[in-house]
Formats: sequence, C-alpha cells, structure tokens
Amino acid sequence: MTAEPVTSSTAAPGAEYADTASAAYRAALQVIESVEPRIAAATRKELADQRDSLKLIASENYASPAVLLTMGTWLSDKYAEGTIGHRFYAGCQNVDVVESVAAEHARELFGAPYAYAQPHSGIDANLVAFWAILATRVEAPGLAELGAKHVNDLSETDWESLRNKLGNQRLLGMSLDAGGHLTHGFRPNISGKMFHQRSYGTDPETGLLDYDKLAAAAREFKPLILVGGYSAYPRRVNFAKLREIADEVGATLMVDMAHFAGLVAGKVFTGDEDPVPHAHVTTTTTHKSLRGPRGGLVLAQPEYSDAVDKGCPMVLGGPLSHVMAAKAVALAEARQPSFQAYAQRVADNAKALAEGFLKRGARLVTGGTDNHIVLLDVTSFGLTGRQAESALLDAGVVTNRNSIPADPNGAWYTSGIRFGTPALTTRGFGATEFDRVAELVVDVLNNTTPTQASSGPSKAKYTLADGTAERVHAASAEMLAANPLYPGLTL
Ligand SMILES: *Cc1c(COP(=O)(O)O)cnc(C)c1O
Repeated sequence: MTAEPVTSSTAAPGAEYADTASAAYRAALQVIESVEPRIAAATRKELADQRDSLKLIASENYASPAVLLTMGTWLSDKYAEGTIGHRFYAGCQNVDVVESVAAEHARELFGAPYAYAQPHSGIDANLVAFWAILATRVEAPGLAELGAKHVNDLSETDWESLRNKLGNQRLLGMSLDAGGHLTHGFRPNISGKMFHQRSYGTDPETGLLDYDKLAAAAREFKPLILVGGYSAYPRRVNFAKLREIADEVGATLMVDMAHFAGLVAGKVFTGDEDPVPHAHVTTTTTHKSLRGPRGGLVLAQPEYSDAVDKGCPMVLGGPLSHVMAAKAVALAEARQPSFQAYAQRVADNAKALAEGFLKRGARLVTGGTDNHIVLLDVTSFGLTGRQAESALLDAGVVTNRNSIPADPNGAWYTSGIRFGTPALTTRGFGATEFDRVAELVVDVLNNTTPTQASSGPSKAKYTLADGTAERVHAASAEMLAANPLYPGLTL
C-alpha cells in the first residue's frame, strides 16, 4: 500500500497521523480528568460542538493536531523575556531555538527581512508595531515631563495634552463601518487614546476603497502612521498604492494583515496585493486564515527591526514559548504546496458563496468578494444583523453580525452578517457545499420575521417559522458528516 503524498492534496493536515494524535489526546484527557474532570468534559464537548456546527466566522479556523499538540508542553514553564540570544533569564537555549525557527519560517514564508514571533495576539502585535514606529520616528520627552501618575486618571483633555507633548502623533486607518479594526485608532482601544486618529472609508455607492479620497485625507491630515488592513472588507487592497500615498506624506505604512495572512502565505495575494514588500511594518495574527495557534507576528523592514525586537519587555510580557513553537509548526505547514492549494480554495469558495447569495436575490456589500469574506446586507430581508445572527444560530449556522457602510442600525444591532470561508474549507467544503450554505442561509432569513415591539426598539427580537431550524440543521449535518473535522481523530 502506498500513501498519497500529503503535499499534493488540499485536505487539512493531520489525517496521516490521526491514530497517533488520537492516542495522545486520549492520554492527555485522562490525565486532565484525574485533576479537574469538568475541564476534561468541556474540552471533549468543545470538539463535539465544533464538529457539529457550520462555522462561518471569518476570523476562525481549525489548526492541525500537530499545531495543537505542540502547545501542550513544558516549553510553557520557561521564562524567556528579551530576545533570541539576549534574555533576562538563564537557561533559554531551547527557547532560543524555538523562537529562531519560528522567525526563520516567517521570514521565508512571507519574504520579510525580519520577523518577530513573540506577540501573544494580534492586538499585541499592533502594540509592538505602534511602539516600534514611535520609538523609531519620534523624539519623545521623558515620561516624568508628562506629569501624570496613573494613565487611568487621564481625561480626554489630558490625553490630548499628552499627545501634544509627544508631538500630536497622527494615525490614519480604515473606519470601523468600512471594515477596519478597533486597534486602528478607535476609542475602545488604546490606539484611539494615544493617537490623534482620523479614518478613511469606502465609497457609499460601491462600498469599495476610494484611493483618491484616501490620498486626499492623507495629504490633509499628514499622519505619522497610515494603517492598511481590515477585518470586514470583502475585497483586495492595493498596498503598492498605499505605500505611494504614505511616502508622499512622510507616513510609515503599517499593514495589519490579521485576517488575510493565509491568502498572503498561500500566494493568492501577490504583487501589489501582497503587503509585506510594501509596508514598513506588517502585523498579523497566526490563528485566522493562517491556520496556526492563537497568537501574533510582526514583520518589519530593517530600519524598524531593532525597535520591534524590544517588543518584550517594552509592551509584552514573557514570551509564550509553547505557542511560539506551535507558530513554527504552523508556518512550516504553510510553506507546503498544499497550503497554497488551500488558500486558493478559500478564495474560490468565497466566490461560490457570494454567487450563491446573489443568484438568490440577496444584496452583498461591494456586490461580491475577492478574498475570504462575504458581507451580506440583511436589510433586504427586513432584518437587523442582530436578528439575523440569532436566527442563523438557532439553525446551527454560526456567524457574526457586522456593521455595513453608513449602517442604519448602528454598531450594536448592525445591518450585516459577515461570512468567512477559511474554517469550512479546512474541513473540505468546496464550491458545491458553499452554494448549499448560501441556500440554507437564505432559507433561514426568508423565514425570519422581526417581532413588532409595543414599545421601545425591537431590533433584537424575531420569530423563526416552524420547521426551519430542523430543516437547515438536517441539511448541514449531512455536509458536516461528509467533511469531518479532524478526520480519524477519536477520543
Ligand atoms: C482579529 C484582528 C486583530 C486582533 O487579533 P487578536 O489576536 O484577537 O488580538 C487585530 N487586527 C485585525 C485586523 C484583526 O482582524
């Protein structure tokens, strides 16, 4: 019997070592059970729940058993603050190997001159980038000069005066309702406090990025940092153009590719659409389309690398060595040809999902997709995002509500549902299955009626017609059974 070469298939990695992984998980759960049975039970239940649901959350995926197993070791027990070969603790020789291998894979995979594997999450990667850019570009006065004891005591006016003392640093990022991220200068995040922020949006008619308007905003505002990247924009971005704009106004181009790093790694986004050669600093998560462990990465051009390298202890605590090890394993997987096939399938499947919606009369923000995201405007079904999200969940379809440009229902109720293809593509779903997903979603939304409240807003309440949830559950169960999560893995 000859084994199929793993690298030529688009199947999720793991099937070829499923028996060994099953034995490892059975043993691990038995050990956990002997200490705290409720945790073993919740862990088992989580696998069952993930196997049984139609996961369309655009920021989620399924990491391979190799990636997951790598996180459960004694690498977690080591303190290793500092950088490779220069730690504040003794005995870091093995962590040095782990971090070097992770950084090497990241540099090779993305063609970056420098990679930093320590950030614990995407937000942390952005914090490292902000501080690295400030440290490289701004002559800041000593902290004592700022005259504040506790950051928590600062009012809005204090923040403004603090920014003024630092030179009133400006950040221009994509607006939240156009698909930007909280860390790109919005109030609920530190980035919205420490920077004087302004945002660029999308064209109200087409929903597409308007580069001329962006350039005009940059010329007028003169940001220190121009942030590219998004969480809910269903189109590709021309990063060469963003760099031109940044250069014209003297800004540092920072691209946050947290959502679409898998499409960059998988060479679906190349040339002007690949942010890494164009951005001064590129940040990402490792757990979304990149399909690795929960964590972050920073890639940088040489002039920023010294400052990025001081991410710990400047803004990060001790590195999670077990997670850096898992990043190295995931990045090694992403360097296989099979990952490129996977990434292409993620994009093809998003097109199939979008076409499935359009041919059934639904309205999509920007009229379609050319990445892994589809943003459905649910106002055409007479629903808010909140009602649609809950009704879909009742039918076993897991999504999240999302603002759409100029959202009439605001950021809480919203008018959109965001769909993503990375997770179900990992399970093996193709164009046929995604067309069926569109059919099921439209079935649910057509059978959802908003409840009229006698008083106050009724933007959350709805009724789902009898039999809808059962019908959709049955249809998705069939597709899920044909495309098992972690095939061959038994607990
Ligand atoms: C998800 C995301 C983040 C945050 O990642 P965490 O790991 O949750 O901190 C940052 N930026 C963008 C654009 C994202 O989509």
